[in-house]
Amino acid sequence: MQRTRTALMFVILLCMTTNGFTWGFFGHKHINYHAVFLLPPEMTSFYKQNIQYLADHAVDPDKRRYAVLEEGPRHYIDMDHYGNAPYDALPKKWNDAVEKYSEDSLAAHGIAPWWIIIMQQRLKKAFEEKNAANILKLSADIGHYIADVHVPLHASSNHNGQKTDQVGIHGFWESRLPELYAQTQYNLLIGKAQYLARPLDYIWERVYESAAASDSVLKIEKSLAASLTSDQRFAFEERNGRVLKQYASSYSLMYHSKLNGMVERRMRSSIFSVASFWYTAWVEAGQPDLSGLGKIEPNAEMLQNIESLQSAWLGGKIIGRSCSN
Ligand SMILES: [Zn+2]
Repeated sequence: MQRTRTALMFVILLCMTTNGFTWGFFGHKHINYHAVFLLPPEMTSFYKQNIQYLADHAVDPDKRRYAVLEEGPRHYIDMDHYGNAPYDALPKKWNDAVEKYSEDSLAAHGIAPWWIIIMQQRLKKAFEEKNAANILKLSADIGHYIADVHVPLHASSNHNGQKTDQVGIHGFWESRLPELYAQTQYNLLIGKAQYLARPLDYIWERVYESAAASDSVLKIEKSLAASLTSDQRFAFEERNGRVLKQYASSYSLMYHSKLNGMVERRMRSSIFSVASFWYTAWVEAGQPDLSGLGKIEPNAEMLQNIESLQSAWLGGKIIGRSCSN
């Protein structure tokens, strides 16, 4: 009984430390932040002046999962539900996929790549209208969804290791490891954003990469865990000013080494993709002059939106998939 309770407490702790967030707060903020530096000069002035907003609101879509029923499936796609690579059975285009599987069935297994394309169209429209508030909000949001599809476990139905007795691995890979190593070891300076002639194909390629990597994420941790005791894997350590039981830093180092640069590669790819989607939307909108837009103070609507997301997140329970199911 005691052991069951201890195990349960640990699962709760692991969930609390991840909050079910993809890339964690840390990763998402870093990805949106660094993406700004890949933009051409015509865009950088506006984006740099508002870089703090883009970083701070990189996790709004995850907060929305506490308030909006439809939000959850926008963050992932269970590729294993559709068989194996090269996934010929799953149409890339939304209308073709709906015709084959129905909208409800698609929603049940995640719609991330298609949702990114919808967001891309919205961002393009915001550029056309030179609506600074919407450009910022949509840039922050799409950055989140794009980063999500770079996380291998966002392309797997075994997204938190719940099918293989590895509960907690979601946050381990995407939160714990970047927090430990991104600032000191990762090179997040990347060249320039590129125009994406086929954004849908581009994002599917990233999804396929994630699906291919998800097996390694799970198998490597499984075999490493088998050679160690629980005390070697978990420890009470400080995180964000609190002492929590979590994956020990020594164990994190072992796992990180075995992953052989995977987390850094996916983070770099996320940054490049986010910047390239922002840039592509701007080009397709006719490269509007952003120089007069300046630093944006959130208007009443933005503030209300921020407040309602915050309170749903603080007080609520995630609707749909979380790290515990
Ligand atoms: Zn997410």
